[in-house]
Amino acid sequence: MLVVMSKRATPEQIDAVVAAIEAKGCTARPIPGGQRVAIGVLHNPGAMDAAYFMTFPGVKDAIPVTRPYKLVSREFQPKNTVVRIGDVSIGDGGLSVIAGPCAVESETQALTIARLVRQAGARMFRGGAFKPRTSPYSFQGLGEEGLKILARVREETGLPVVTEALDHEVFDLVERYADIIQIGARNMQNYTLLRRAGRARKPVLLKRGLSATIEEWLMAAEYILEGGNPQVILCERGVRTFAHHSRNTLDLSAVRVVMKESHLPVIVDPSHAAGRRDQVIPLSRAAVAVGASGLMVEVHHAPEEALSDGAQSLYPEQFDELCRQVQAISEVFRDPRKDQAARG
Ligand code: PEP
Ligand code: MN
Repeated sequence: MLVVMSKRATPEQIDAVVAAIEAKGCTARPIPGGQRVAIGVLHNPGAMDAAYFMTFPGVKDAIPVTRPYKLVSREFQPKNTVVRIGDVSIGDGGLSVIAGPCAVESETQALTIARLVRQAGARMFRGGAFKPRTSPYSFQGLGEEGLKILARVREETGLPVVTEALDHEVFDLVERYADIIQIGARNMQNYTLLRRAGRARKPVLLKRGLSATIEEWLMAAEYILEGGNPQVILCERGVRTFAHHSRNTLDLSAVRVVMKESHLPVIVDPSHAAGRRDQVIPLSRAAVAVGASGLMVEVHHAPEEALSDGAQSLYPEQFDELCRQVQAISEVFRDPRKDQAARG
């Protein structure tokens, strides 16, 4: 249920509705809008009676919420969420490109790649310090040393950094160093980790699970918002299908569905979807044409020597080309009516 207050509702009238919601054992979550306040009802055990709320002075409407997700839904918040990290905004209608290696391997490696991707137009740097690897024998990341290198990259290049919090144990540490905390595909339904992300004071990049439905993905984001962190960016990175011509299958229609269902920004990771570099530029073009708010791309100055995901990492010249192409596409689609179209 969403209780919409009239434009002229007084703070006392809003408080009275909040008290009535809480008296029913539910949680009231006021959502200030440009024009009016709406109050979301959370934790209700069953359907709520809209007519009851209509009897309160100052109430304009009481709308049953039809979706299982609430705080992330457009029903609760029609206006797009814009996540801001320094002077980078994600979800404001522009295009933000995040790039870097799969894993931070050394200070020289990270700085070399960061300078190259910044030069090409990347607005943020990515690199894992704690890596989720299929094999326990594969490179697991540099751990805290990797985070320290990321901090030096930020200092040196001015690029904000995105890195993964692999588990609860390292979350505090990652939160201290990262500008955006990544929750990886394998952890999308790690509910205790999602709750911890809900208490974080930094934006969270939530990747879609390996075979998650859109509803499961949005419910995972709901955990983070319900926990008190509204700064969530969703990232489509391909799902597992029967196909073997790519590592995963990039689900671009999911981007449109998420844009329609949720106010949260959605970006695309073509690298983990493709698993091979020859598909990364075409998939990036498609993602931007479909309306993604950004891209997250793996780039390495020497992919054949990369300690993880070398086959899908672009050479720096390819990343230059990618930036040129997606910039041109994003300008074609830059349209003030875009948000409206996404909803309709
Ligand atoms: C990554 O971004 O390097 C990564 C491990 O991604 P995912 O969780 O999507 O597999
Ligand atoms: Mn990777």
